[in-house]
Amino acid sequence: MLNRNENSPHIALFPSAGMGHLTPFLRLASMLLSHKDCHLTLITGHPTVSDTESSYISYFLSQNPEVNHIQLQIIPFHGSNPTTDDPFFLQFEATRRSAHLLHPLLSSTSPPLSALFSDFVVASTVSPIAADLGIPNYIVATTSAKFFCLMAYLPTLLSNVAELSRIPEVKIPGLTPLQISSIPPPFKDPDHLFTAQLATNALALSAAKGILINTFDGFESETLAAANDGRVLTHLPSFLPTGPLEPYELNKEQMQHCLSWLDRKPAESVVYVSFGSRTAMSNDQIRELSKGLERSGYHFLWVLKTSKVDRDDKEELKDLLGYSFLERTEKSGMVVKGWVNQQEILDHPAIGGFINHCGWNSVMEAARRGIPMLAWPQHGDQMVNAEIVKDAGLGIWERKWGWGVEALLDGEEIAERIGELMGNEKLKSNARKVGEEARKASGVDGSSEKVLMGVIEFLKQQK
Ligand code: UDP
Ligand code: UDP
Ligand code: UDP
Repeated sequence: MLNRNENSPHIALFPSAGMGHLTPFLRLASMLLSHKDCHLTLITGHPTVSDTESSYISYFLSQNPEVNHIQLQIIPFHGSNPTTDDPFFLQFEATRRSAHLLHPLLSSTSPPLSALFSDFVVASTVSPIAADLGIPNYIVATTSAKFFCLMAYLPTLLSNVAELSRIPEVKIPGLTPLQISSIPPPFKDPDHLFTAQLATNALALSAAKGILINTFDGFESETLAAANDGRVLTHLPSFLPTGPLEPYELNKEQMQHCLSWLDRKPAESVVYVSFGSRTAMSNDQIRELSKGLERSGYHFLWVLKTSKVDRDDKEELKDLLGYSFLERTEKSGMVVKGWVNQQEILDHPAIGGFINHCGWNSVMEAARRGIPMLAWPQHGDQMVNAEIVKDAGLGIWERKWGWGVEALLDGEEIAERIGELMGNEKLKSNARKVGEEARKASGVDGSSEKVLMGVIEFLKQQK
């Protein structure tokens, strides 16, 4: 039973490219819908980079027909910038540059818009639109509070970029120093598309009403306190922690084989291995990882991706891993090529540990279940995130492993670390405590819901 009325705010949500960005937006949308007191518009870029994004958007809209949908035609950005050919980075830039086309579409919605919840990746072009419409723009952060602070601080760092090659650590006021090896390598190049985009978006931060961030106080308390006390940068809007975002019901169709396999395994006996939605692993590393998993002696469920974009992933398991590996591990392991419903896997009692790149959504999903992680950052924000995971007691992380996309890690070493992940009782009990804190934040009447409801109340009073 919906109880919307003329006082109900109308919020437009605008995620940028990739499942790591779409997922937290759809979760926020579901939380807002369950409150039953908001009108929602979902803005999605068209065409999407991956097929998965497109099918998640369709499914979400079919389940929530009351949500208004605006499809923004993205003008392709081929880029004169030779620093990256990553299709997601190019789409971030294309989306940012296409966002001005939203103005007429947003100024004519009915009821009129009360606020925008938009991706940080489009901040520089969305914030003038919000100002022109006279509505607040809340930025949705899809990474950790600590990495977000680093991005906010990037224009300051770039003002003396030569120093980044000399200093051992980056000192951001109010935060524990970040070792230079944790900073994404492209940050040393102000012309790198990744860096240039982030710096441009960072300059638009002060115009935002608030930063909705998928984290919780018990996980990143020092960073949240420093940011909200104005110690990091004086002009930063409030960080509004709404994590771990509550998952919503997904299409269950393709999951049956994984779940029934897990059903036959004892509690906490399976290592789940996944590197998110858009990290391709090299064939050499795949072979070492397969050795590590087999040698560890634990059951494993491994989601294997060999391309950044799902529709390009055409390699066969038997060619990647060999028949003999697949035969030998037939009982103990399951390797899945393609998309799985990760939130449902992490909810399964058979999962005892998670080998992961520390994409921030995955970190929050593991935190919500108190599942110990073996952090293996590959690129981007993931090393900063790995450090947070370790400091919070949710997982183990070896700094000397470096960036996954750069170094080859030996199977023996992987096996040893899996032993620690699955056998260390102290780690398990710490992770369990993180899970308890996370559930306190994210449950009914938890701090995250209260923060979100506070925003809705504010928007109602503005009407
Ligand atoms: N995910 C999933 N199935 C997959 C791969 C990823 O459900 O096969 C989900 C995962 O649960 C998370 C999101 O996709 O919610 C990926 O975001 P994350 O920040 O973890 O990593 P990214 O893909 O952005 O590197
Ligand atoms: N980001 C951005 N522009 C880019 C790439 C990333 O603004 O071209 C931001 C975005 O907020 C993202 C964070 O940097 O959450 C970390 O980026 P990464 O590519 O590591 O992860 P993603 O969340 O995109 O999977
Ligand atoms: N990458 C990423 N997020 C980052 C940095 C790198 O996803 O923040 C990935 C990206 O896919 C890229 C690879 O890691 O292809 C190497 O990164 P970089 O941008 O430094 O070099 P490129 O290969 O694009 O020249």
